Amino acid sequence: MFNCDYHIHTRLSPCAARDFDLEKIIKVQQERGVKEIGVTDHDYAYGYKAKNIEAVRKIVQKCESPIPIHFGVESHILEYRVASINIQLASYFDYVLMAPNHYHLRGVALPSDLGNPKRVANHELYMFEAAIACPLTDAIAHPFVLTPNVFRLSNEEVSAFGSEMMRHIDQKRLIHQLDLASQREIAIEISPKFIRYNQRHLTEFYQLCLEREVKLLIGSDAHKAEELGELSELEPILEELGVQEEHLWRPKEWRW
Ligand SMILES: [Zn+2]
Ligand SMILES: [Zn+2]
Repeated sequence: MFNCDYHIHTRLSPCAARDFDLEKIIKVQQERGVKEIGVTDHDYAYGYKAKNIEAVRKIVQKCESPIPIHFGVESHILEYRVASINIQLASYFDYVLMAPNHYHLRGVALPSDLGNPKRVANHELYMFEAAIACPLTDAIAHPFVLTPNVFRLSNEEVSAFGSEMMRHIDQKRLIHQLDLASQREIAIEISPKFIRYNQRHLTEFYQLCLEREVKLLIGSDAHKAEELGELSELEPILEELGVQEEHLWRPKEWRW
C-alpha cells in the first residue's frame, strides 16, 4: 500500500539471520513492490566505532540498487538522559530509531516489577518520555510493544497483560509527549511486531498518535527474509486507521 520499510536489520546485527544481506533484502523488497527502504542495524553492531559505520555507509551508498536505500540505525534508551548512541556517531546515519524498551540488553533500566502491569505502564511511559526528550531521536521504535520472552509470557498472556498495561498509562502525560513528538517531527513506528505479539489493543494508541498529528513510521523490523513480508499484515490496520500519505514519516533530505 505505502511501499516503504524503514526498519530492517541486516546480517550485521548479531540477532539477524546470517544470510540476510543487502542483496537479499533488495531482491525480496523489489519482488514485493517496495519503493523505498532503510537499513537500521543496532548501533552496537558497529562496535560504536566511526570507522566501522563509515565503511558500511560507503557500501550502502555504492550499492547498485533499483530501490533507494537510506542508512539508519537502531539505538536505545538506557535511562532518562542516557542513550546508547552519541551525537558524533549519530551524525553518520540518515536517521536514528530510538527504542525505549530494549529490556533484553545490558544496561537498560527495567521496570521494578515485570509482573505488575501498573508498574510496567509507569516505566514504559518514563522510557518513552526519555526517547522523546533525546535530541538524536528521529522516530521511536516499537513503543509499548511488549516482547513475550522478556516478560516470560506466552503470546496470549502478553496480549492480556499489554492491554491491562495500556489502561494504566497516564493519558495526560502520554498526550503531552505526543504533542512534543508532533512539534519536533518525531515519528512513532508501527510495525507488524505488534500483530506478531498479539497486541492489537495498540491500534488505539496509533489512533491517538494520528489525532495528535504525529507521523507514523512504517517498518517491518525484519531480522530475516520471511519477516519482510509481514509488513503486508499492517495494511488492513492502516486502512482502518485511515492512514494517508501525509500521515507517514519519510527520511528527510538535507538541503544546503
Ligand atoms: Zn528494537
Ligand atoms: Zn529492530
